[in-house]
Amino acid sequence: MKKLTFTLALLACSALQTQAQNTFEGQFTRPLGEVLDEIATRFNVRLKYDIDTTGLKLPYADSRIRPYSVEESLTNVLSPFDYKFVKQGNALYKLKKYEYPRRTDADGRKLIDYLLTQYNDQVSFEKRRVLLKKEVRERLQIDKYLSLRTGSAPILSKIRKYDGYTVQNFALETLPGLYVCGSIYTPKSKGKHALIICPNGHFGNGRYREDQQQRMATLARMGAICVDYDLFGWGESVYQVSSAGHQTSVAHIVQAMNGISILDYMMTRKDVDTTRVGVNGGSGGGSQTVLLSVLDDRYTASCPVVSLASHFDGGCPCESGMPIMLAGGGTCNAELGALFAPKPMCVVSDGKDWTASTPTLEYPYLQKVYGFYGAADKVTNVHLPKEGHDFGPNKRNAVYDFFAGVFNLDKSKLDESKVTIEPFENLYSFGKKGEKMPENAIRSVNELGKYFGKDAVRAAAADESVLKKSQEIIAALNLTDEKVINLATTAVYNHRRAVRDWHNAHPYTIIPEVDKATGRKLSKVEREMMADKMIPESVHARLLKDLNRVLTPEQVEAVFDQYTVGKVAFTMKGYYAIVPDLTDEEAKVIEGHLKQAREEALECKSMKAISQVFEIYKTKCEQYLNSNGRDWKQLFRDYVNKRKAEKAAQKAKEAKK
Ligand code: ZN
Repeated sequence: MKKLTFTLALLACSALQTQAQNTFEGQFTRPLGEVLDEIATRFNVRLKYDIDTTGLKLPYADSRIRPYSVEESLTNVLSPFDYKFVKQGNALYKLKKYEYPRRTDADGRKLIDYLLTQYNDQVSFEKRRVLLKKEVRERLQIDKYLSLRTGSAPILSKIRKYDGYTVQNFALETLPGLYVCGSIYTPKSKGKHALIICPNGHFGNGRYREDQQQRMATLARMGAICVDYDLFGWGESVYQVSSAGHQTSVAHIVQAMNGISILDYMMTRKDVDTTRVGVNGGSGGGSQTVLLSVLDDRYTASCPVVSLASHFDGGCPCESGMPIMLAGGGTCNAELGALFAPKPMCVVSDGKDWTASTPTLEYPYLQKVYGFYGAADKVTNVHLPKEGHDFGPNKRNAVYDFFAGVFNLDKSKLDESKVTIEPFENLYSFGKKGEKMPENAIRSVNELGKYFGKDAVRAAAADESVLKKSQEIIAALNLTDEKVINLATTAVYNHRRAVRDWHNAHPYTIIPEVDKATGRKLSKVEREMMADKMIPESVHARLLKDLNRVLTPEQVEAVFDQYTVGKVAFTMKGYYAIVPDLTDEEAKVIEGHLKQAREEALECKSMKAISQVFEIYKTKCEQYLNSNGRDWKQLFRDYVNKRKAEKAAQKAKEAKK
C-alpha cells in the first residue's frame, strides 16, 4: 500500500512538473525544459546541457521562439534565467550559465576600441595608470591584508645541489598561521643574480610537475634565481585550507599577497640583483603575473604566458574572485598588462585557447600603448598558432629567450637535459603528509573567517567538510595506491557535493504537501524522497563511472556501504535472525533487493530518507518471502517472542548473581 501511494504521488509530482499554464491567464507559461526540447526538434539541432532546468518555467514561452533563427530563439528563451549558449558544432549548442569573467572576442574588440578612446598619449595614459593601479588595489582589498602580515622569517629547508643550480624549499608565513610553500632555484655561480618570481597556474600536479621544474632549473642554470610557490589550496596549502579554499575570493587576495611577500623576502637576500626582477607564469599563473606587475613596481620585466586577453579575465576565483576588472569603470587583462609600459614585456600566446586573438587584437593594442612611450619594441609577442593551452617546450623557449635578452642571462647554459627532475616530496616543506607544519598553522579554511569574514569562507568550509567525509569513506577501504585514493576520493567528493547542491536548490518544499491523486497529505520524508528522486541521473552515472575507473567492483560496493552506513549487511543479519532457516536462494533474492535499495539511496539528502528507501525494499523482501511459502508476520512475531524470552532469561540470570 505504501509503495502504491508513493508511486502515485510521484506521478502526480511529475505531472506537476510538466503541467502547462499555456493560457493568457497563465502568461502562456511552459516548463523551460519542454521549450528547449521543442527548439531542438524544430530546428533540428542538438543541445548539450551544462545547466539545470528542473522546475524552471518560462512565461510567454512560445512568443520567444523566432521561426527563422535558432540562435535568436535560444537567446530569448535562455536569457531570463541568466543562461547562454555556445555554438560547438554545425548543429550543436552547449547551454551554460552566464560567466562573468568570459566574453566573446568581439566584445574584447569593442572594449579595446573603447579604451583607446580614453587615452592617446603618455600623459592621458599615465592618468589612466594611476587610476587603475589605485582601484585594483582597493578592489582587491590587498592593503588591508598586507598590513596584517607577520613579517616572520621563512622556514628554509636544506639546500639540494644539482648541475649548475641548487634548490631550497621555503615556507613563508603571510597572515598569522597561514603559510605559502615554495622552492627557490639558485644559480651555482657567485655574485648577484636576476630574480624571477613565478606564480603558478592550474596545470595538473601544480608546481611539482616536470615542465615547471625544467623551467625553474633551466633559468637558474642560465643565471636567474627563480622562485615558485603553491597556489592557495593546492600543494601543501591543502593541509591548511583544503582544496576547497581555492574556490574562494580569498584565493585571489592571498595569492597576490603571497607573491608580494615572497618578493619582499627575496629582495632582502644578498645574492639578488634588485634591478633585474622578473615575473613569469602560465595560464592562471599568467593572470597573476599581470596582477603582480600592477601591484608591485619593483618588477622590471614581465612575461605572461597563455593567459592575457581582453575578453577573458580567468575563470577561477583566484583570478576573478575579487572584482578587480571593474576598476576604472571596466578594464581587462590586456589593459592591466599595458600598465607595465614601457618596461619589457613578452606575451606568449597560442592558437587553441582564448589567446588566439592576441596577434590581431591584444598585441597591437599593447604596441600602441607602449608606443606612447616610444617603446613599441619593448613589448613582444610569441604566438604559437598550432599549439594549445600548456607550458610546452616552445613556450618555455620563448620565456628563456625573453629573460636571456632582458636580464643578460647565459644562453649557452640553456639545456633542459641537465635538469634533475625531483620527486614531489623533495619539494615539500611540511613533510609527506604535512606532519612538519608549524604549531600555529591553521588547519581548516574555516579559520580564515577571522581575517576575511565568515561569508567569504562559508561555502569552502562546507565543501571542506564534504571533502573530509569523502576522505573518511575512501580511507575505510584501506587502499595503498595514493593515485587511486586521490581519484576515488575526488569521485566521492564530486558526487556528494553535486547531491548536496542539488538538494539545496531543490528542497522537499518543491513537492506539494498534498498528493493530488489521492488527496493524502504527504510526510516531510516522503516529499524529501520525491525530491531526491528528481536529481538528474547523470549525477549517479558519473559516480559509477568515476569509481569503476579506479576501483574493483567489490571496492565500489564497499564505498556504497559507507554511504549507507552498512545497512545491507546489517539488514541481512536481521533476516537471518528472523528466518533462521533462510535458504541460499532466498538470501540471494533478499540481498539483491537490499543492494538495489543501497544504490537508490546514494543520492538521498538525509539519513531518514536513506532508511525510508530501505523500508520500501524491505517490504519487497517480505512480500517475496510470503510468496515463497513463508508467513512473514508469524516469523516476525516468533522472533520478537524469542528475543523477549531471551531477555527475560538474561535478567533472571543477572538477578541470581
Ligand atoms: Zn585558481
